Amino acid sequence: MAKPSRMKPPMGHDNGWWWQQAADGKLAIQRCASCQTLRHPPRPMCSECRSMDWDFIESCGRGTVTSYTVLHHPQFPGYDYPLIIVLVDLEEGTRLTAQLQDCDSEDVEFGMAVESYIHQDADGFKIPMFRPATEGADNAN
Ligand SMILES: [Zn+2]
Repeated sequence: MAKPSRMKPPMGHDNGWWWQQAADGKLAIQRCASCQTLRHPPRPMCSECRSMDWDFIESCGRGTVTSYTVLHHPQFPGYDYPLIIVLVDLEEGTRLTAQLQDCDSEDVEFGMAVESYIHQDADGFKIPMFRPATEGADNAN
């Protein structure tokens, strides 16, 4: 029997575009077209200038763990536990909550450098996740 798949997030008018960017391999950050303020999660109006006009930039994907939690229960089908969920301060200045992979739950710590990548489930669904930054990543670009 096939392994159950991940629960899919709701994708509506205000955030469906963000998931489409993820499906295209990009970690997007919404930007106010009027005052250039970045915001996440996606929403229709700028909290700084109330403009409804927006575009987006592609994040470099680098950031640091500002908080995290390790989920053991309840265990839903389609996920591998324990799940490490991190709140990441991206270099661009916005925050993003996502799963941390390639890291033991004992090794995650505040301030650790992480980098994003687009994870693809067996059913083809794509979702941004993080993994510990590789050594020397700051010098790679
Ligand atoms: Zn604005």
